[in-house]
Parts: sequence; C-alpha cells; structure tokens
Amino acid sequence: MTDHRLTRLMQTTDTSGDCWLWTAKPNGEGYANVRIDGVHYRAHRLAYELLVGPIPDGLVLDHLCRVRHCLNPAHLEPVTIAENIRRGRAVLPPYSSRKTHCPQGHVYDEVNTYVTPQGKRDCRTCRRAARRRCDARRRAAA
Ligand SMILES: [Zn+2]
Ligand SMILES: [Zn+2]
Repeated sequence: MTDHRLTRLMQTTDTSGDCWLWTAKPNGEGYANVRIDGVHYRAHRLAYELLVGPIPDGLVLDHLCRVRHCLNPAHLEPVTIAENIRRGRAVLPPYSSRKTHCPQGHVYDEVNTYVTPQGKRDCRTCRRAARRRCDARRRAAA
C-alpha cells in the first residue's frame, strides 16, 4: 500500500530526469517544504523516510547531487552535521537556526553568519568587535 503522503509528494515532483525536482516554490534556503494533513515536512526528508527508511537521530541528509530541492533518495545520504559542514554543504543546525539574531541583536543572515567547525553559528560583527577589543588591549599594553 502506498502511503498517501508519497502520492502527494510525487504530484509535485518531476521525476523525468535523474534528479527528482520539486516543482513548487522552494523555501528561502532552497529546500522543498510541504504540508500534508496539517504537518510540515522537508520534502526530501519525507521522501527518504517513505522510500528508504527512518533517518537516524541527529543525522542530516546530504544532497550528493547538490540540488537542494531534489527528492531522489538515491541522491541523499544521511551524514552527521559535522560531516555535512566538512563537505561544505552546511545546513545551519536546527537547534540554533530558530534564533534570528545573536545575543547582541545582530541579525543572523547569510553575510553575518559564520559556522564554526563544531557546527555552531557565530556572529561576524561580534567576532570583529571582539578582535578589535583584543587588538586595542594589546596596543595599550605595549
Ligand atoms: Zn538529485
Ligand atoms: Zn553579534
């Protein structure tokens, strides 16, 4: 029996090519989002879970094809966030992505956000300010 969520997904997906392309408008990050029965899903995660199986806890799906709105499970590999960052395909980790501003109120946008090797987000404006303070102290001490 086919899960009706899969039917729903496939209605909005162009599977004529190698990549299964989401034909609706992707979100700001380029990912396909879908709402089924009032529940929001990342379309590629849902496709993977329905066609392959559950995604292990704490893992993210890396798009091997680099097409973020592609739903083909053969192009998706569950990896750790650290691995995803190492591959240069970091998705901002979900635990911090809900915050839109740093503690000092600077906005976390594409330009101002720095992802540390640990997968944490850092504010570039604050990093610059900290470096300036440090330089000033060093000059004062000299
Ligand atoms: Zn693909
Ligand atoms: Zn800041």
